Amino acid sequence: MEKLSHIIAAKVLKKEWKAVRAARSGPLISHLFFADDLILFGEASAQQAMVMKNSLEEFCELSGQQVNFEKSLLYISANTKSDLVDQIELTCGATRSADMGNYLGVPLVQGRVTKATYKGVLVKVQAKLAAWKNGLKAFVKTLTNLLKVLFGEVASLMNQAMLSKASWRIVAGDSGLWAAMLRKKYLRGLIYGAAILNKGMKWRVGDGTRVKFWTDTWIGDVPLVDTNFPLSDQLDKAETVSNYFSMTGWNIQKLLQALQPEAVMHIISIHVDVDGNIPDTCIWGPSSNGVFSVKTAYELSARFNEVTGSPWKFIWNLKIPPRVKMFTWLLTQKKILTNVQRVRRHLSRDPSCPLCHYHEESLQHLFISCPRVLALWRSFYLPESCIIVAI
Ligand SMILES: [Zn+2]
Repeated sequence: MEKLSHIIAAKVLKKEWKAVRAARSGPLISHLFFADDLILFGEASAQQAMVMKNSLEEFCELSGQQVNFEKSLLYISANTKSDLVDQIELTCGATRSADMGNYLGVPLVQGRVTKATYKGVLVKVQAKLAAWKNGLKAFVKTLTNLLKVLFGEVASLMNQAMLSKASWRIVAGDSGLWAAMLRKKYLRGLIYGAAILNKGMKWRVGDGTRVKFWTDTWIGDVPLVDTNFPLSDQLDKAETVSNYFSMTGWNIQKLLQALQPEAVMHIISIHVDVDGNIPDTCIWGPSSNGVFSVKTAYELSARFNEVTGSPWKFIWNLKIPPRVKMFTWLLTQKKILTNVQRVRRHLSRDPSCPLCHYHEESLQHLFISCPRVLALWRSFYLPESCIIVAI
């Protein structure tokens, strides 16, 4: 497969193969490999179809392998003229499809990603979450909470935990294609994921040049600036940890001028690299081994998003008309008669949503995922965390 990758890369370099962009000004993508599977990307033209076909043939000749065109799918973007589509199909010899189906249980999407796209995956992940001993507690609590029922906070927490994984790998220095793509296409989500990352991320000090002495978390669970230790209010926040090194180790005198003795005692017990050979590294505080995991990110996210009190109390204290209170209460108890419920009770035959006429009118749809309702939530300027799951 590596050989095929070289063949394609050479053609891209010679501008024979016109790769596509993942987003406006995003990185160019010509192919993706996973195990024995392969996805090729190129401009929708007869000439490009020929270049692709030739590349595959060249590879088959060199390797003695065969491409199974019957098992291959061809996806052509919807705005392509039909005679061109026919021509490309004929050249490639693969079956054309409007939907690339699932890959390893995850839908391969070529259109706009909505909440519904990954709903199946989310359901599976949530089932897994429920199995976690500690996660279960947070999960049940979350489900019974009004805000979380209304805004799909569970999904949002999980979303944040997953996004923080991507953010983590980017912070940890992954420079691969996927990292470049994520940066371009999902920057907003990454920032959202980074919010939780910020709360759990710590530095393991090496040569001390990357770690900010006062504002990064590298000793204890919070930055030094947030502790009782600083002796002065005038801190130089640009100072790195290495500014507190001497030729042989910590500069104890300088430390004592800046911090209380107890903090200094704690700091000098950390072994540092004054020769500059070992770089500073990010570690994940909530895991015992310092390695990032979605599970610990979820737990951390849940902890920061916890809302206390029962939904009833919360609703009762809202300054809204009594009948709206009652309605909201019934909503949290899932006692609203939606069209899905009506069909179930044989009161109607049509479960569809009267707003979008496209999906079934379930509680989840009516209050969260219906496009018309989403537009309404957005108009309230809700926190991004509430809406991001639906984008
Ligand atoms: Zn709808």
